[in-house]
Amino acid sequence: METGFPLNRADALHRLKSFLPQAGSAYARLRNRDEGPGGHRHVSRLSASLRRRLVSEEEVVRAVLGHHDLASAEKFVSEVFWRSYWKGWLEQRPSMWQGYRTALSRARARLDDKPELKARHEMAVQGRTGIDYFDACITELAETGYLHNWSRMQIASIWIFTLNLPWELGADLFFERLLDADPASNTLSWRWVAGLHTVGKAYLADPERIRAMTDGRFAPKGLARSAVIPADSISTPPPSGIRERRSPDRAAPTLLLVTTEDLSMEEIPALRALPVRAIACVDGKNRWDGAPLADGMERARQAWPGARDLGALDPAGVFEAAAEAGCTQVTSTFIPAGPVADALLPRLQEPKSHGIVFTEHLRDWDRRTWPHCRKGFFALKEKIPGIVEGGRA
Ligand SMILES: Cc1cc2nc3c(=O)[nH]c(=O)nc-3n(C[C@H](O)[C@H](O)[C@H](O)COP(=O)(O)OP(=O)(O)OC[C@H]3O[C@@H](n4cnc5c(N)ncnc54)[C@H](O)[C@@H]3O)c2cc1C
Repeated sequence: METGFPLNRADALHRLKSFLPQAGSAYARLRNRDEGPGGHRHVSRLSASLRRRLVSEEEVVRAVLGHHDLASAEKFVSEVFWRSYWKGWLEQRPSMWQGYRTALSRARARLDDKPELKARHEMAVQGRTGIDYFDACITELAETGYLHNWSRMQIASIWIFTLNLPWELGADLFFERLLDADPASNTLSWRWVAGLHTVGKAYLADPERIRAMTDGRFAPKGLARSAVIPADSISTPPPSGIRERRSPDRAAPTLLLVTTEDLSMEEIPALRALPVRAIACVDGKNRWDGAPLADGMERARQAWPGARDLGALDPAGVFEAAAEAGCTQVTSTFIPAGPVADALLPRLQEPKSHGIVFTEHLRDWDRRTWPHCRKGFFALKEKIPGIVEGGRA
């Protein structure tokens, strides 16, 4: 059964197929229209699947380009590349994820010291500000786990510039509630709206435009008329290049570690060829992760039928479980910055433990895309034709 926001691979592929006719000029024309809960028919609603790679960016782009030429699907393809851009940008400045977590703790602590700020924050979180569009979107987010991209921009802008709330607390609210919560897309999009990504260029919500894009359903009053860009709470280091990792040894008995960062590992030929003796997963960190993770594990079991199923493991017990299963390497796809990396990498990056090494497969898509994510989006955008003509991941 297909759900509103696909959370397994079969539903995601079905959604992709049914969306293909709309991914061309219709998407460019209509994608910003907000028709409210249950009405998001001009966009794909694939983000919860893409975020977990139930379907990969490459599969989506290839399917779209099998249906439209690049010129007609340019807008949709660019949006998928925005996802890769944020991923690659953060991956080359992973300390900014930690910086955000620290700034968030400070912002939370300030709430306890400032009762007025705390009350304003409560009203925003509960959708009781009296700003009609803002309150409706916050309710939709709480009830469905989704908001249209254009709505996310308006809500972030109103949060920062009209309600004068710290952007870190808004990013945290989205991260807690979104079905597609992604450390890179979410944190960096909030920074973009706040005017901290492209320095000095903030996004200001406009009441007239909200009225037009919602067919007059909303007419928010009292919105800020200028954007006072907040002080940056996180320092932006120069890009560092992609983290060093060890590649899988094609001959080593392997424990395949399934994570919510990539739930279609069986589609990757280089992994398919490994001598996989055991399969395990680590729990995701998002409250919507249960069903996609179960789906990813089920497909892994089918792809490697001879492998022992070790189920969900505590990150601290992964090497021990691998040793017991007779494996000499633990292999996952590359784990990008975020809560899964925070839980796993400190435990798995030890040089050698129980005689086991941890190896990561970097998808070809990321290898081709991320090096162009060091500056603004345009540097990546001009590489899109070359990237989509490249080989398979
Ligand atoms: C403040 C803010 C927070 C956001 N937080 C997240 C988040 O946590 N996770 C997330 O996946 N996206 C996030 N986005 C990006 C975007 O809003 C969603 O990806 C999009 O709304 C998902 O709906 P869709 O799948 O129907 O998108 P479609 O319009 O159908 O686009 C297709 C795919 O392209 C990607 N995409 C589209 N727009 C963007 C964008 N602006 N940035 C990055 N990727 C994009 C998504 O993977 C999406 O599924 C955020 C945007 C803003 C402004």
